[in-house]
Amino acid sequence: MTLATKPRGPLDGQHFHVAVIGGGINGVAVARECARAGKRTLLVEQNDFASGTTSRSTRIIHGGLRYLEHGELGLVRESLRERERLLRVRAHLVNPLHFLLLLNDQSQRSALRVRAGLWLYQRLSGKKSSSGTSEMELKRLERALDTGRRWSFFSYEDAQCEFPERLVAEWLGEAMEAGAVVRNHNEVLAVDVMHGRSRGLLLRDLITGRDERVDAGWVINCTGPWADRVCQRSSLRMAKPMVGGVRGSHIILPRFAAAPNAALYSEATDGRPVFVLPWNEQIMVGTTEVPDSGDPSRTTPSAEEIEYLLRAVVQLFPKSRISAQDIKYAFAGVRPLPYTPDNSPSAVTRRHFLHDHADDGAARMISVIGGKLTTAASLARECARKIGISVPEPKLLAVGPGTTLDPLLDQAIVQIAQTGSVSEESARSMVEWHGKGAMDVARLAMVSAELRAPICPHTPHVVAEVVEAYRTECAVTLGDVLLRRVPVALGPCWSESCSREAALRIGAVMGWNEHEMGANLESFEMERSGFLRKVLRGTPALQAAAD
Ligand SMILES: Cc1cc2nc3c(=O)[nH]c(=O)nc-3n(C[C@H](O)[C@H](O)[C@H](O)COP(=O)(O)OP(=O)(O)OC[C@H]3O[C@@H](n4cnc5c(N)ncnc54)[C@H](O)[C@@H]3O)c2cc1C
Repeated sequence: MTLATKPRGPLDGQHFHVAVIGGGINGVAVARECARAGKRTLLVEQNDFASGTTSRSTRIIHGGLRYLEHGELGLVRESLRERERLLRVRAHLVNPLHFLLLLNDQSQRSALRVRAGLWLYQRLSGKKSSSGTSEMELKRLERALDTGRRWSFFSYEDAQCEFPERLVAEWLGEAMEAGAVVRNHNEVLAVDVMHGRSRGLLLRDLITGRDERVDAGWVINCTGPWADRVCQRSSLRMAKPMVGGVRGSHIILPRFAAAPNAALYSEATDGRPVFVLPWNEQIMVGTTEVPDSGDPSRTTPSAEEIEYLLRAVVQLFPKSRISAQDIKYAFAGVRPLPYTPDNSPSAVTRRHFLHDHADDGAARMISVIGGKLTTAASLARECARKIGISVPEPKLLAVGPGTTLDPLLDQAIVQIAQTGSVSEESARSMVEWHGKGAMDVARLAMVSAELRAPICPHTPHVVAEVVEAYRTECAVTLGDVLLRRVPVALGPCWSESCSREAALRIGAVMGWNEHEMGANLESFEMERSGFLRKVLRGTPALQAAAD
Protein backbone atom coordinates (compact mmCIF):
# COMPACT_ATOMS: atom_id res chain seq x y z
CA MET A 1 0.00 0.00 0.00
CA THR A 2 1.31 3.50 -0.83
CA LEU A 3 -0.14 6.85 0.13
CA ALA A 4 0.19 10.09 -1.80
CA THR A 5 0.22 13.57 -0.23
CA LYS A 6 -2.06 16.33 -1.49
CA PRO A 7 -0.55 18.52 -4.24
CA ARG A 8 -0.39 22.27 -3.44
CA GLY A 9 -2.31 24.45 -5.87
CA PRO A 10 -0.90 27.72 -7.26
CA LEU A 11 -1.54 30.99 -5.42
CA ASP A 12 -0.55 33.46 -8.12
CA GLY A 13 -3.08 36.25 -8.66
CA GLN A 14 -5.37 35.25 -5.80
CA HIS A 15 -6.86 37.88 -3.50
CA PHE A 16 -7.00 37.57 0.28
CA HIS A 17 -8.54 39.84 2.90
CA VAL A 18 -5.64 39.07 5.21
CA ALA A 19 -2.18 37.66 4.46
CA VAL A 20 -0.23 36.50 7.51
CA ILE A 21 3.54 36.07 7.20
CA GLY A 22 5.14 33.58 9.61
CA GLY A 23 3.72 30.30 10.87
CA GLY A 24 4.94 30.34 14.47
CA ILE A 25 2.39 30.21 17.26
CA ASN A 26 1.44 33.87 16.79
CA GLY A 27 0.99 33.73 13.02
CA VAL A 28 -1.09 30.56 13.21
CA ALA A 29 -3.23 32.05 15.99
CA VAL A 30 -3.81 35.26 13.98
CA ALA A 31 -4.68 33.34 10.80
CA ARG A 32 -7.10 31.13 12.75
CA GLU A 33 -8.81 34.16 14.29
CA CYS A 34 -9.20 35.94 10.93
CA ALA A 35 -10.41 32.83 9.10
CA ARG A 36 -12.95 32.06 11.81
CA ALA A 37 -14.32 35.57 11.36
CA GLY A 38 -15.03 34.73 7.71
CA LYS A 39 -12.07 36.60 6.20
CA ARG A 40 -10.29 34.99 3.26
CA THR A 41 -6.94 34.38 4.90
CA LEU A 42 -3.53 33.27 3.66
CA LEU A 43 -0.79 32.04 6.01
CA VAL A 44 2.73 31.72 4.61
CA GLU A 45 5.70 30.14 6.40
CA GLN A 46 9.21 29.98 4.96
CA ASN A 47 10.21 26.78 6.71
CA ASP A 48 7.69 24.73 8.66
CA PHE A 49 4.94 25.75 11.07
CA ALA A 50 6.36 26.09 14.61
CA SER A 51 9.94 25.54 13.45
CA GLY A 52 11.13 28.98 14.66
CA THR A 53 11.13 30.40 18.18
CA THR A 54 7.99 28.45 19.05
CA SER A 55 9.79 25.09 19.16
CA ARG A 56 12.87 26.59 20.81
CA SER A 57 11.16 27.84 23.95
CA THR A 58 11.10 26.50 27.51
CA ARG A 59 7.50 25.37 26.90
CA ILE A 60 6.07 26.65 30.17
CA ILE A 61 2.54 28.00 30.08
CA HIS A 62 2.86 30.51 32.84
CA GLY A 63 1.52 33.66 34.36
CA GLY A 64 5.09 34.92 34.62
CA LEU A 65 5.90 35.04 38.30
CA ARG A 66 9.12 36.81 37.35
CA TYR A 67 7.24 39.63 35.59
CA LEU A 68 5.95 40.71 39.00
CA GLU A 69 9.51 41.82 39.79
CA HIS A 70 9.15 44.30 36.93
CA GLY A 71 5.68 45.42 38.02
CA GLU A 72 3.97 43.96 34.92
CA LEU A 73 0.69 43.18 36.67
CA GLY A 74 -1.40 43.49 33.49
CA LEU A 75 0.75 40.96 31.67
CA VAL A 76 0.59 38.54 34.59
CA ARG A 77 -3.22 38.81 34.75
CA GLU A 78 -3.58 38.23 31.00
CA SER A 79 -1.14 35.30 31.07
CA LEU A 80 -2.89 33.65 34.01
CA ARG A 81 -6.24 33.94 32.25
CA GLU A 82 -4.82 32.41 29.07
CA ARG A 83 -3.06 29.68 31.06
CA GLU A 84 -6.41 28.65 32.57
CA ARG A 85 -8.08 28.59 29.15
CA LEU A 86 -5.35 26.41 27.69
CA LEU A 87 -5.43 24.05 30.66
CA ARG A 88 -9.13 23.63 30.17
CA VAL A 89 -9.55 23.66 26.41
CA ARG A 90 -6.32 21.84 25.41
CA ALA A 91 -6.11 19.48 28.35
CA HIS A 92 -4.32 16.81 26.32
CA LEU A 93 -1.47 19.20 25.42
CA VAL A 94 -1.26 21.61 28.36
CA ASN A 95 -0.79 20.05 31.77
CA PRO A 96 -0.56 21.49 35.25
CA LEU A 97 3.01 21.58 36.51
CA HIS A 98 3.98 21.92 40.13
CA PHE A 99 6.97 24.21 40.74
CA LEU A 100 9.35 24.40 43.65
CA LEU A 101 11.19 27.66 43.98
CA LEU A 102 14.51 27.07 45.73
CA LEU A 103 16.43 29.66 47.68
CA ASN A 104 19.64 29.25 49.64
CA ASP A 105 21.72 31.54 51.85
CA GLN A 106 23.48 32.96 48.77
CA SER A 107 20.35 33.66 46.69
CA GLN A 108 19.85 37.23 45.53
CA ARG A 109 16.11 37.15 46.24
CA SER A 110 15.07 37.16 49.89
CA ALA A 111 12.52 34.70 51.30
CA LEU A 112 10.33 37.64 52.27
CA ARG A 113 10.29 39.01 48.72
CA VAL A 114 9.53 35.58 47.24
CA ARG A 115 6.74 34.95 49.74
CA ALA A 116 5.15 38.31 48.90
CA GLY A 117 5.49 37.63 45.16
CA LEU A 118 3.90 34.20 45.47
CA TRP A 119 1.08 35.55 47.60
CA LEU A 120 0.28 38.11 44.89
CA TYR A 121 0.68 35.51 42.08
CA GLN A 122 -1.80 33.22 43.79
CA ARG A 123 -4.22 36.08 44.43
CA LEU A 124 -4.10 37.07 40.76
CA SER A 125 -4.62 33.49 39.58
CA GLY A 126 -7.48 32.96 42.02
CA LYS A 127 -6.04 29.54 42.84
CA LYS A 128 -4.91 28.20 46.17
CA SER A 129 -1.48 26.60 46.27
CA SER A 130 -1.78 22.83 46.41
CA SER A 131 0.56 20.81 48.59
CA GLY A 132 2.01 19.45 45.28
CA THR A 133 5.15 17.85 46.62
CA SER A 134 4.97 15.32 49.44
CA GLU A 135 7.10 15.63 52.55
CA MET A 136 8.94 12.49 51.44
CA GLU A 137 9.74 13.97 48.04
CA LEU A 138 10.96 17.20 49.68
CA LYS A 139 13.24 15.22 51.99
CA ARG A 140 14.61 13.26 49.02
CA LEU A 141 15.24 16.50 47.16
CA GLU A 142 16.91 18.10 50.16
CA ARG A 143 19.30 15.16 50.42
CA ALA A 144 20.14 15.44 46.71
CA LEU A 145 20.81 19.19 46.79
CA ASP A 146 24.10 20.79 47.74
CA THR A 147 24.32 19.99 51.46
CA GLY A 148 26.74 22.83 52.13
CA ARG A 149 23.79 25.29 51.83
CA ARG A 150 20.59 25.96 53.75
CA TRP A 151 17.66 25.57 51.38
CA SER A 152 14.14 26.99 51.55
CA PHE A 153 11.36 25.66 49.31
CA PHE A 154 8.33 27.57 48.01
CA SER A 155 5.54 25.82 46.10
CA TYR A 156 3.38 27.19 43.32
CA GLU A 157 1.41 25.97 40.32
CA ASP A 158 1.91 26.71 36.64
CA ALA A 159 1.56 24.63 33.47
CA GLN A 160 3.58 23.13 30.67
CA CYS A 161 2.92 22.47 27.02
CA GLU A 162 5.51 19.81 26.30
CA PHE A 163 4.85 20.07 22.57
CA PRO A 164 3.79 23.55 21.39
CA GLU A 165 4.41 22.09 17.91
CA ARG A 166 1.24 20.03 18.43
CA LEU A 167 -0.73 23.03 19.72
CA VAL A 168 0.27 24.90 16.56
CA ALA A 169 -0.73 21.88 14.42
CA GLU A 170 -4.18 21.86 16.03
CA TRP A 171 -4.71 25.60 15.60
CA LEU A 172 -3.52 25.27 12.01
CA GLY A 173 -6.11 22.54 11.42
CA GLU A 174 -8.82 24.82 12.83
CA ALA A 175 -7.64 27.71 10.63
CA MET A 176 -7.87 25.45 7.55
CA GLU A 177 -11.29 24.16 8.59
CA ALA A 178 -12.41 27.79 8.72
CA GLY A 179 -11.16 28.28 5.15
CA ALA A 180 -7.60 29.61 5.60
CA VAL A 181 -5.15 28.80 2.80
CA VAL A 182 -1.84 27.79 4.37
CA ARG A 183 1.59 27.25 2.84
CA ASN A 184 4.77 26.14 4.56
CA HIS A 185 8.16 26.04 2.80
CA ASN A 186 7.04 29.24 1.09
CA GLU A 187 9.10 32.36 1.63
CA VAL A 188 7.81 35.92 1.51
CA LEU A 189 10.41 37.70 -0.61
CA ALA A 190 8.81 41.10 0.04
CA VAL A 191 5.60 42.83 0.94
CA ASP A 192 4.36 44.61 -2.17
CA VAL A 193 4.06 48.26 -1.10
CA MET A 194 2.70 50.92 -3.46
CA HIS A 195 1.54 54.50 -2.93
CA GLY A 196 1.99 54.26 0.85
CA ARG A 197 -0.04 51.05 1.22
CA SER A 198 0.71 47.36 1.42
CA ARG A 199 -0.96 45.60 -1.52
CA GLY A 200 0.09 41.98 -1.28
CA LEU A 201 3.00 39.57 -1.07
CA LEU A 202 5.72 38.34 -3.38
CA LEU A 203 6.29 34.67 -2.60
CA ARG A 204 8.69 31.88 -3.48
CA ASP A 205 7.65 28.26 -3.11
CA LEU A 206 10.85 26.67 -1.82
CA ILE A 207 9.73 23.19 -2.89
CA THR A 208 8.96 23.98 -6.54
CA GLY A 209 11.03 27.16 -6.91
CA ARG A 210 7.94 28.91 -8.32
CA ASP A 211 7.56 32.68 -7.68
CA GLU A 212 4.06 34.06 -7.18
CA ARG A 213 2.25 37.26 -6.24
CA VAL A 214 -0.94 37.55 -4.21
CA ASP A 215 -3.11 40.58 -3.36
CA ALA A 216 -4.02 41.26 0.24
CA GLY A 217 -6.26 43.79 1.98
CA TRP A 218 -4.13 43.56 5.12
CA VAL A 219 -0.64 42.16 5.72
CA ILE A 220 0.24 40.90 9.20
CA ASN A 221 3.95 40.35 9.80
CA CYS A 222 4.20 37.60 12.45
CA THR A 223 7.78 36.62 11.77
CA GLY A 224 9.01 36.97 15.36
CA PRO A 225 12.78 37.60 15.35
CA TRP A 226 12.70 37.96 11.54
CA ALA A 227 10.23 40.90 11.66
CA ASP A 228 12.77 43.63 10.80
CA ARG A 229 14.17 41.58 7.90
CA VAL A 230 10.74 41.40 6.28
CA CYS A 231 10.43 45.20 6.54
CA GLN A 232 13.94 45.76 5.14
CA ARG A 233 13.18 43.51 2.14
CA SER A 234 10.01 45.49 1.53
CA SER A 235 11.87 48.84 1.64
CA LEU A 236 9.83 50.25 4.52
CA ARG A 237 11.09 53.53 5.98
CA MET A 238 11.74 52.48 9.55
CA ALA A 239 13.23 54.97 12.01
CA LYS A 240 14.60 52.18 14.22
CA PRO A 241 14.47 48.39 14.49
CA MET A 242 11.39 46.85 16.09
CA VAL A 243 13.05 43.75 17.56
CA GLY A 244 16.00 43.39 19.92
CA GLY A 245 16.75 39.67 19.61
CA VAL A 246 17.80 37.90 22.80
CA ARG A 247 19.01 34.32 22.46
CA GLY A 248 17.98 31.73 25.02
CA SER A 249 19.55 28.28 25.17
CA HIS A 250 18.61 25.00 26.83
CA ILE A 251 20.42 21.75 27.53
CA ILE A 252 18.66 18.37 27.64
CA LEU A 253 19.82 15.76 30.13
CA PRO A 254 18.59 12.24 30.79
CA ARG A 255 16.51 11.92 33.96
CA PHE A 256 19.17 11.55 36.64
CA ALA A 257 18.60 9.61 39.87
CA ALA A 258 17.94 12.64 42.09
CA ALA A 259 15.82 14.50 39.52
CA PRO A 260 12.59 15.63 41.16
CA ASN A 261 9.14 15.18 39.62
CA ALA A 262 8.39 18.84 40.26
CA ALA A 263 9.83 21.63 38.15
CA LEU A 264 12.57 23.55 39.93
CA TYR A 265 13.01 27.28 39.72
CA SER A 266 16.28 28.47 41.20
CA GLU A 267 19.03 31.01 40.66
CA ALA A 268 22.16 30.55 38.56
CA THR A 269 25.52 31.90 39.75
CA ASP A 270 24.66 35.40 38.49
CA GLY A 271 21.25 35.49 40.22
CA ARG A 272 19.33 34.92 36.95
CA PRO A 273 16.48 32.45 37.17
CA VAL A 274 17.16 28.94 35.95
CA PHE A 275 14.59 26.20 35.38
CA VAL A 276 15.21 22.47 35.77
CA LEU A 277 12.13 20.84 34.30
CA PRO A 278 10.83 17.36 33.67
CA TRP A 279 10.21 17.29 29.89
CA ASN A 280 9.56 14.51 27.43
CA GLU A 281 10.99 11.84 29.78
CA GLN A 282 14.16 13.94 30.08
CA ILE A 283 15.30 17.00 32.00
CA MET A 284 15.34 20.42 30.35
CA VAL A 285 17.58 23.11 31.81
CA GLY A 286 17.17 26.69 30.68
CA THR A 287 17.77 29.36 29.91
CA THR A 288 20.18 32.14 28.98
CA GLU A 289 19.78 35.73 27.77
CA VAL A 290 22.34 36.79 25.17
CA PRO A 291 21.74 39.70 22.76
CA ASP A 292 21.69 38.21 19.26
CA SER A 293 21.17 40.19 16.07
CA GLY A 294 22.31 37.41 13.73
CA ASP A 295 20.16 35.35 11.39
CA PRO A 296 17.61 33.61 13.68
CA SER A 297 17.63 30.57 11.35
CA ARG A 298 21.24 29.92 12.29
CA THR A 299 21.12 30.62 16.00
CA THR A 300 22.91 28.07 18.13
CA PRO A 301 23.90 27.76 21.81
CA SER A 302 27.46 28.89 22.51
CA ALA A 303 29.87 26.76 24.58
CA GLU A 304 29.70 29.45 27.30
CA GLU A 305 25.90 29.20 27.52
CA ILE A 306 26.04 25.41 27.71
CA GLU A 307 28.67 25.66 30.41
CA TYR A 308 26.57 28.21 32.35
CA LEU A 309 23.52 25.90 32.30
CA LEU A 310 25.57 22.83 33.17
CA ARG A 311 27.18 24.66 36.07
CA ALA A 312 23.75 25.70 37.36
CA VAL A 313 22.58 22.04 37.57
CA VAL A 314 25.89 20.83 38.96
CA GLN A 315 25.71 23.45 41.71
CA LEU A 316 22.20 22.36 42.61
CA PHE A 317 22.94 18.63 42.45
CA PRO A 318 26.69 18.19 43.09
CA LYS A 319 26.25 14.57 44.15
CA SER A 320 24.68 13.59 40.83
CA ARG A 321 28.07 14.00 39.11
CA ILE A 322 26.41 15.35 35.96
CA SER A 323 28.94 16.32 33.31
CA ALA A 324 29.07 17.54 29.73
CA GLN A 325 29.13 13.86 28.64
CA ASP A 326 25.54 13.54 29.83
CA ILE A 327 24.11 16.32 27.70
CA LYS A 328 21.92 14.73 25.02
CA TYR A 329 21.63 17.90 23.00
CA ALA A 330 21.33 21.66 23.30
CA PHE A 331 19.17 24.09 21.36
CA ALA A 332 18.64 27.83 21.16
CA GLY A 333 16.00 30.31 20.04
CA VAL A 334 15.87 34.08 19.69
CA ARG A 335 13.27 35.92 21.75
CA PRO A 336 11.70 38.60 19.55
CA LEU A 337 11.70 41.23 22.31
CA PRO A 338 10.86 44.88 21.61
CA TYR A 339 13.96 46.89 20.67
CA THR A 340 15.15 48.67 23.84
CA PRO A 341 18.93 48.94 23.52
CA ASP A 342 19.44 50.57 26.91
CA ASN A 343 17.81 47.83 28.97
CA SER A 344 19.45 44.61 30.13
CA PRO A 345 17.78 41.60 28.42
CA SER A 346 16.11 40.52 31.70
CA ALA A 347 14.51 43.93 32.14
CA VAL A 348 12.95 44.15 28.66
CA THR A 349 9.20 43.74 28.83
CA ARG A 350 7.73 40.41 27.72
CA ARG A 351 4.54 42.17 26.60
CA HIS A 352 3.65 42.12 22.92
CA PHE A 353 3.16 45.16 20.69
CA LEU A 354 1.31 45.63 17.43
CA HIS A 355 3.27 48.02 15.23
CA ASP A 356 1.16 49.82 12.61
CA HIS A 357 3.32 50.62 9.55
CA ALA A 358 1.14 53.49 8.28
CA ASP A 359 3.85 55.98 9.32
CA ASP A 360 6.58 53.87 7.70
CA GLY A 361 4.95 54.18 4.28
CA ALA A 362 2.93 50.95 4.43
CA ALA A 363 -0.64 51.46 5.63
CA ARG A 364 -2.65 48.28 6.22
CA MET A 365 0.42 46.41 7.41
CA ILE A 366 0.93 45.40 11.06
CA SER A 367 3.97 43.79 12.68
CA VAL A 368 3.53 41.66 15.78
CA ILE A 369 6.43 42.12 18.18
CA GLY A 370 7.14 39.98 21.26
CA GLY A 371 4.61 37.76 22.96
CA LYS A 372 4.70 34.35 24.55
CA LEU A 373 3.30 30.93 23.84
CA THR A 374 0.93 31.52 26.73
CA THR A 375 -0.63 34.66 25.31
CA ALA A 376 -0.68 33.84 21.57
CA ALA A 377 -4.48 33.43 21.51
CA SER A 378 -5.18 36.77 23.23
CA LEU A 379 -2.58 38.45 20.99
CA ALA A 380 -4.43 37.06 17.97
CA ARG A 381 -7.76 38.46 19.16
CA GLU A 382 -6.16 41.85 19.72
CA CYS A 383 -4.56 41.79 16.28
CA ALA A 384 -7.83 40.83 14.58
CA ARG A 385 -9.62 43.70 16.35
CA LYS A 386 -6.91 46.10 15.23
CA ILE A 387 -7.76 45.36 11.60
CA GLY A 388 -11.46 45.88 12.20
CA ILE A 389 -12.62 42.33 12.87
CA SER A 390 -15.09 42.06 15.71
CA VAL A 391 -13.90 39.28 18.01
CA PRO A 392 -15.74 38.62 21.25
CA GLU A 393 -13.67 37.86 24.32
CA PRO A 394 -14.25 34.14 25.03
CA LYS A 395 -15.97 33.33 28.29
CA LEU A 396 -13.31 32.81 30.87
CA LEU A 397 -13.44 29.06 30.98
CA ALA A 398 -15.46 28.33 27.86
CA VAL A 399 -14.72 24.95 26.36
CA GLY A 400 -14.02 25.04 22.62
CA PRO A 401 -15.89 22.75 20.27
CA GLY A 402 -14.42 19.28 19.96
CA THR A 403 -11.10 20.05 21.57
CA THR A 404 -11.27 18.69 25.08
CA LEU A 405 -10.91 15.02 25.68
CA ASP A 406 -13.65 12.80 26.79
CA PRO A 407 -13.62 13.05 30.58
CA LEU A 408 -13.66 9.26 30.60
CA LEU A 409 -10.13 9.23 29.26
CA ASP A 410 -9.37 5.61 30.04
CA GLN A 411 -12.50 4.49 28.26
CA ALA A 412 -11.56 6.60 25.21
CA ILE A 413 -8.11 5.00 25.16
CA VAL A 414 -9.57 1.49 25.24
CA GLN A 415 -11.90 2.42 22.37
CA ILE A 416 -9.05 3.90 20.31
CA ALA A 417 -6.89 0.85 20.97
CA GLN A 418 -9.70 -1.41 19.77
CA THR A 419 -10.53 0.70 16.72
CA GLY A 420 -6.91 0.87 15.61
CA SER A 421 -5.89 -2.62 16.77
CA VAL A 422 -3.00 -0.99 18.61
CA SER A 423 -1.70 -1.40 22.17
CA GLU A 424 -3.19 0.74 24.93
CA GLU A 425 0.20 2.41 25.26
CA SER A 426 0.05 3.47 21.60
CA ALA A 427 -3.55 4.61 22.01
CA ARG A 428 -2.60 6.72 25.04
CA SER A 429 0.32 8.29 23.14
CA MET A 430 -1.99 9.10 20.24
CA VAL A 431 -4.50 10.76 22.55
CA GLU A 432 -1.78 12.81 24.23
CA TRP A 433 -0.67 14.28 20.91
CA HIS A 434 -3.81 14.26 18.79
CA GLY A 435 -6.64 14.71 21.32
CA LYS A 436 -9.92 13.82 19.68
CA GLY A 437 -8.11 13.47 16.34
CA ALA A 438 -6.65 10.24 17.76
CA MET A 439 -9.77 8.40 16.59
CA ASP A 440 -9.04 9.34 12.94
CA VAL A 441 -5.48 8.08 13.36
CA ALA A 442 -6.80 4.85 14.89
CA ARG A 443 -9.13 4.29 11.91
CA LEU A 444 -6.18 4.71 9.56
CA ALA A 445 -4.03 2.38 11.70
CA MET A 446 -6.65 -0.33 11.35
CA VAL A 447 -6.00 -0.50 7.59
CA SER A 448 -2.68 -2.39 7.67
CA ALA A 449 0.03 -3.81 9.89
CA GLU A 450 2.55 -1.35 8.37
CA LEU A 451 0.41 1.57 9.52
CA ARG A 452 0.11 0.11 13.01
CA ALA A 453 3.86 -0.44 13.32
CA PRO A 454 5.76 1.84 15.72
CA ILE A 455 7.72 4.60 13.96
CA CYS A 456 10.94 3.23 15.46
CA PRO A 457 11.51 0.36 17.91
CA HIS A 458 11.58 2.70 20.96
CA THR A 459 8.33 4.59 20.60
CA PRO A 460 4.67 3.67 21.00
CA HIS A 461 3.78 6.24 18.29
CA VAL A 462 2.77 4.53 15.06
CA VAL A 463 3.30 5.08 11.33
CA ALA A 464 -0.39 6.00 10.84
CA GLU A 465 0.28 9.25 12.77
CA VAL A 466 2.98 10.12 10.25
CA VAL A 467 0.72 9.45 7.29
CA GLU A 468 -2.02 11.59 8.86
CA ALA A 469 0.56 14.39 9.27
CA TYR A 470 1.43 14.24 5.56
CA ARG A 471 -2.20 13.97 4.48
CA THR A 472 -4.01 16.42 6.74
CA GLU A 473 -1.46 18.49 8.69
CA CYS A 474 0.58 20.02 5.84
CA ALA A 475 3.78 18.12 6.63
CA VAL A 476 6.03 18.26 3.57
CA THR A 477 9.41 16.96 4.73
CA LEU A 478 10.43 14.14 7.06
CA GLY A 479 11.67 16.85 9.43
CA ASP A 480 8.19 18.43 9.50
CA VAL A 481 6.87 15.08 10.64
CA LEU A 482 9.45 13.73 13.07
CA LEU A 483 10.44 17.04 14.67
CA ARG A 484 7.03 18.74 14.84
CA ARG A 485 3.78 16.89 13.88
CA VAL A 486 4.79 13.61 15.55
CA PRO A 487 7.90 14.83 17.38
CA VAL A 488 9.36 11.47 18.34
CA ALA A 489 12.84 12.64 17.30
CA LEU A 490 12.95 14.93 20.37
CA GLY A 491 12.68 11.86 22.60
CA PRO A 492 15.29 10.34 24.89
CA CYS A 493 16.27 7.35 22.75
CA TRP A 494 16.40 8.89 19.30
CA SER A 495 19.57 8.19 17.35
CA GLU A 496 20.72 7.94 13.73
CA SER A 497 19.63 4.33 13.64
CA CYS A 498 16.10 5.41 14.69
CA SER A 499 16.11 7.91 11.81
CA ARG A 500 17.04 5.15 9.35
CA GLU A 501 14.48 2.71 10.73
CA ALA A 502 11.75 5.37 10.72
CA ALA A 503 12.55 6.39 7.14
CA LEU A 504 12.29 2.75 6.03
CA ARG A 505 8.96 2.20 7.76
CA ILE A 506 7.50 5.51 6.59
CA GLY A 507 8.95 5.17 3.08
CA ALA A 508 7.29 1.76 2.70
CA VAL A 509 3.78 3.19 3.19
CA MET A 510 4.45 6.48 1.38
CA GLY A 511 5.82 4.60 -1.64
CA TRP A 512 9.25 6.26 -1.67
CA ASN A 513 11.82 4.83 -4.07
CA GLU A 514 15.42 4.37 -2.97
CA HIS A 515 16.47 7.82 -4.14
CA GLU A 516 13.53 9.52 -2.31
CA MET A 517 14.30 7.53 0.81
CA GLY A 518 17.95 8.66 0.78
CA ALA A 519 17.05 12.29 0.07
CA ASN A 520 14.40 12.40 2.82
CA LEU A 521 16.77 10.85 5.33
CA GLU A 522 19.66 13.12 4.45
CA SER A 523 17.67 16.35 4.71
CA PHE A 524 16.07 15.16 7.96
CA GLU A 525 19.44 14.42 9.56
CA MET A 526 20.74 17.82 8.43
CA GLU A 527 17.79 19.60 10.01
CA ARG A 528 17.94 17.53 13.20
CA SER A 529 21.64 18.15 13.75
CA GLY A 530 21.26 21.87 12.98
CA PHE A 531 18.52 22.24 15.59
CA LEU A 532 19.43 19.74 18.32
CA ARG A 533 23.12 20.43 18.75
CA LYS A 534 25.49 17.75 19.89
CA VAL A 535 27.75 19.18 22.57
CA LEU A 536 31.45 19.21 21.74
CA ARG A 537 33.00 18.02 24.97
CA GLY A 538 36.51 19.13 24.11
CA THR A 539 35.82 22.89 24.28
CA PRO A 540 37.75 24.60 27.09
CA ALA A 541 34.61 26.09 28.67
CA LEU A 542 32.96 22.69 28.99
CA GLN A 543 36.08 21.02 30.25
CA ALA A 544 36.23 23.66 32.98
CA ALA A 545 32.58 22.99 33.87
CA ALA A 546 33.24 19.28 34.14
CA ASP A 547 36.27 19.73 36.44
C1 LIG B 1 14.63 30.65 24.93
C2 LIG B 1 13.17 30.97 24.91
C3 LIG B 1 12.34 30.52 25.91
C4 LIG B 1 10.98 30.82 25.89
N1 LIG B 1 10.19 30.27 26.84
C5 LIG B 1 8.85 30.52 26.82
C6 LIG B 1 8.01 29.88 27.75
O1 LIG B 1 8.45 29.06 28.55
N2 LIG B 1 6.70 30.20 27.73
C7 LIG B 1 6.17 31.09 26.83
O2 LIG B 1 4.97 31.35 26.89
N3 LIG B 1 6.95 31.69 25.92
C8 LIG B 1 8.28 31.41 25.88
N4 LIG B 1 9.09 31.98 24.94
C9 LIG B 1 8.52 32.94 24.01
C10 LIG B 1 7.84 32.26 22.83
O3 LIG B 1 8.52 31.11 22.42
C11 LIG B 1 7.80 33.23 21.65
O4 LIG B 1 7.32 34.47 22.05
C12 LIG B 1 6.89 32.72 20.56
O5 LIG B 1 7.24 31.41 20.19
C13 LIG B 1 6.98 33.64 19.37
O6 LIG B 1 6.22 33.09 18.35
P1 LIG B 1 6.16 33.80 16.96
O7 LIG B 1 5.10 33.10 16.19
O8 LIG B 1 6.02 35.26 17.13
O9 LIG B 1 7.62 33.58 16.33
P2 LIG B 1 8.26 32.29 15.64
O10 LIG B 1 7.86 31.04 16.31
O11 LIG B 1 9.72 32.56 15.52
O12 LIG B 1 7.60 32.28 14.21
C14 LIG B 1 7.98 33.18 13.19
C15 LIG B 1 7.98 32.42 11.89
O13 LIG B 1 8.15 33.31 10.80
C16 LIG B 1 8.80 32.61 9.77
N5 LIG B 1 9.36 33.56 8.80
C17 LIG B 1 10.37 34.43 8.98
N6 LIG B 1 10.61 35.13 7.87
C18 LIG B 1 9.71 34.71 6.94
C19 LIG B 1 9.48 35.03 5.57
N7 LIG B 1 10.21 35.96 4.93
N8 LIG B 1 8.49 34.37 4.92
C20 LIG B 1 7.73 33.43 5.55
N9 LIG B 1 7.94 33.08 6.83
C21 LIG B 1 8.91 33.71 7.53
C22 LIG B 1 9.86 31.83 10.52
O14 LIG B 1 10.35 30.74 9.77
C23 LIG B 1 9.13 31.43 11.79
O15 LIG B 1 8.61 30.11 11.73
C24 LIG B 1 10.45 31.65 24.89
C25 LIG B 1 11.28 32.11 23.86
C26 LIG B 1 12.62 31.74 23.85
C27 LIG B 1 13.50 32.16 22.72
